[in-house]
Amino acid sequence: MAAPELEHLIALFSKLPTMGPRSARRAVLFLLNQKEKQFFPLLQSMQIVMEKVNTCSVCGNLDTVIPCSICSDIHRLPHQICVVRDVADLWAIERSKVYKGQYHVLGGILSALDGIGPEELNIQSLLDKVAVNQGCEIILALPATVEGQTTAHYLYDQLEAYPCTVSALSRGVPVGGELDYLDDGTLQMAFKARRTV
Ligand SMILES: [Zn+2]
Repeated sequence: MAAPELEHLIALFSKLPTMGPRSARRAVLFLLNQKEKQFFPLLQSMQIVMEKVNTCSVCGNLDTVIPCSICSDIHRLPHQICVVRDVADLWAIERSKVYKGQYHVLGGILSALDGIGPEELNIQSLLDKVAVNQGCEIILALPATVEGQTTAHYLYDQLEAYPCTVSALSRGVPVGGELDYLDDGTLQMAFKARRTV
């Protein structure tokens, strides 16, 4: 048993995505062995990010400025809104450099198993946006999983009453595909070959 303070830190680390107790322990030991080179810069960086980074009130992206640098970029197309599950997927699309419109982060996808219904997601704010953005194109860039497609179908139904076109990424995205894990080329193809639904 390590000191209680250390065990507490390890327990916090083990709650991070992809970390288990074993990798949490290794990470904490790594930091303690490299206090100056790794631990201190990490601590400083975490402090800065915690203080300065916030959720964009327009699209849901994370940035140090609100509205975020994407929403306030006048060179981006105002009438395309790409709907993504989370910020990781938004960043994946930005990395691929294929898309130059706006975003809307849902904050998750519908999941009966996890008790996530439409009220838990940023759907009403999407509909409000579409209502004032006449003739816009909504691009559903959701995971090619059962839950992702259930969410897409729900959104088609909701958007039907609005003056917009709805398109979805082509099936270049493999079944079960998580956007964040796709290579840039596949994502670019899926975007270019998107189809109206
Ligand atoms: Zn934004």
